[in-house]
Amino acid sequence: RLYNEVQDLKGSIRVYCRIRPFLGGQSSYMSTVEHFEEGNISIRTPSKYGKRLKSFSFNKVFGPKATQAEVFSDMQPLMRSVLDGYNVCIFAYGQTGSGKTYTMTGPKDLTEHSQGVNYRSLGDLFYLAEQRRDTFHYDVAVQMIEIYNEQLFLNSCCTLEIRNSSQNGLNVPEASLVPVSSTSDVIHLMNIGQRNRAIGATALNDRSSRSHSCLTVHVQGRDLTTGAIFRGCMHLVDLAGSERVDKSEVTGDRLKEAQHINKSLSALGDVIASLAQKNSHVPYRNSKLTQLLQDSLGGQAKTLMFVHISPEPEAIGETISTLKFAERVA
Ligand code: ADP
Ligand code: MG
Repeated sequence: RLYNEVQDLKGSIRVYCRIRPFLGGQSSYMSTVEHFEEGNISIRTPSKYGKRLKSFSFNKVFGPKATQAEVFSDMQPLMRSVLDGYNVCIFAYGQTGSGKTYTMTGPKDLTEHSQGVNYRSLGDLFYLAEQRRDTFHYDVAVQMIEIYNEQLFLNSCCTLEIRNSSQNGLNVPEASLVPVSSTSDVIHLMNIGQRNRAIGATALNDRSSRSHSCLTVHVQGRDLTTGAIFRGCMHLVDLAGSERVDKSEVTGDRLKEAQHINKSLSALGDVIASLAQKNSHVPYRNSKLTQLLQDSLGGQAKTLMFVHISPEPEAIGETISTLKFAERVA
């Protein structure tokens, strides 16, 4: 291992909360967020005795005015870890409409200013790799995987053999691993992935909010002096919507989808919570998602979870359950 800085943060898990602004010019006077500051947030919950406040603490809370650049601003150490040969997972969690895709990708009318974590991470990786060009040579390849109903779908363009199949986790034999050498390569690829996803979406009635979408970046580094080879990996995961569906209202496929999402999100919560508590048994095998990410959760890997909340009073139930999920893994 090249740098020791990361070892001090062994098994590190950070949780950031992001509050979506009101949309479409709606006034924010009725926001359920009473107050937020640094890592603390208090939520106004309806009560027959008037206002009741519930408080939660995380590593950081981003308010509705936080820009994409601010949200990304202290993530450069994670990108350095990947180039040093460590594994990183970045998750976006929250109910549908709370801003997960906005954080990871950006809005539909994407500009450079509104680019999300995925673009900025890759941009930083290439930038930092370039800075190290005299000492290391890096090969970067990306892969887009979607998990829908506990099945894996590959959304990147060409199919290549996976280079380093996982030791313990899920083997993804036909995974498409696409070499990239610039941010524009990645943007091109993400557009293709998005289109592939969109094709599935029409066929399956917009499954995008009901599937986990994972952009995995594989980095292989070579020390130009010693010839030593090392690998790092970053998973950028836009999770399926965490909202609970009413079992009495949905049936058939919709119920099956909901059960799969429920199962995999609680499996993810269980894995992260048991890592946070340093339990000896970590239940990776309970979902495809945790199996896929097994090598990048725990050990010396780093995890960053963005939990998203919507400010509207109608969302209060989901907001509280999102914050409880987050508190459990923090
Ligand atoms: P999710 O992926 O969780 O379902 P989206 O990211 O699609 O939610 O966000 C829902 C809507 O809110 C989109 O129109 C998105 O552009 C907008 N939105 C989300 N977060 C923000 C934000 N921080 N600032 C401005 N608009 C946002
Ligand atoms: Mg989304």
